[in-house]
Amino acid sequence: MSFNEGASLDTSQVTGGGGGRTGAVVGGGVGGLVILLISLFLGGGSGGSTVDLNDILTGGTQSGSVDTSQCKTGADANRDDVCRIIGTVNSVQDYWKDALPADVQRQYQDATTVIYAGQTQSACGTASNATGPFYCPSDQRVYIDASFFTELTSKFGADGGPLAQEYVVAHEYGHHVQDLLGILAKGQDGKTGPLSGGVRIELMADCLAGVWANHASSTKDASGNTLLKPLTDADIKSALSAAAAVGDDHIQSTLGGGRVDQESWTHGSSASREKWFTTGYKSGNLNTCDTFATNDL
Ligand SMILES: [Zn+2]
Repeated sequence: MSFNEGASLDTSQVTGGGGGRTGAVVGGGVGGLVILLISLFLGGGSGGSTVDLNDILTGGTQSGSVDTSQCKTGADANRDDVCRIIGTVNSVQDYWKDALPADVQRQYQDATTVIYAGQTQSACGTASNATGPFYCPSDQRVYIDASFFTELTSKFGADGGPLAQEYVVAHEYGHHVQDLLGILAKGQDGKTGPLSGGVRIELMADCLAGVWANHASSTKDASGNTLLKPLTDADIKSALSAAAAVGDDHIQSTLGGGRVDQESWTHGSSASREKWFTTGYKSGNLNTCDTFATNDL
């Protein structure tokens, strides 16, 4: 298990989504809003799932909401997927808070993660288990369906290790870092394919997840405590299995009927995603993550 059992989790960095908080929170002009999802593996589009997992996950609170109050310590993060999301959000933000100003002279701003069940509203449209985890630049929030990690293993084929899940969270915060650095728009060239801006942005987020992984066990929270234990080879194997599981070629061949069409790629091949996570993990430096500087992706 990867968290130090006695570490404290900070639930103020997440919200349980759903319920009565679905009003328009973005001032003005919602009608003209461009739907922009920076997801883990899909270009966007919600599938209109009507499955409400709420009762299973939370025992009957408001539709779409998830109770995070039971997440208090690292031991909770080791036993429970929702608590693991919270612990990872804490660690990733602790890391970038120090690294961003040191490396590129930009201040880090916290981003809230919305952990929801079934579906909830974002400024980028409806979040559901059909969209998968994503970062919404319009409200600067990360959206993760509490049940996604089950799918990551059962549907996409990642192994069930904790770093497989933590990689997902760190990838989405990689998009937030890109947003803060003003480079997220480079992925919006409207093109797809192995060398498209979108794929480069995704592979960079994988690399940034790797950078965090490199520093995870030395990153301290505000009280000077570390959340995560040193990573093992098995942990890294888990992260790579998740990166490979969400590669475009793997998804097309396993879920899309077997035909691999490179020109429609939005996130990069399994091999590329593993490669860029590894690049970030080995260097521990975001300056090695410039996926726009090479065509050898
Ligand atoms: Zn992504």
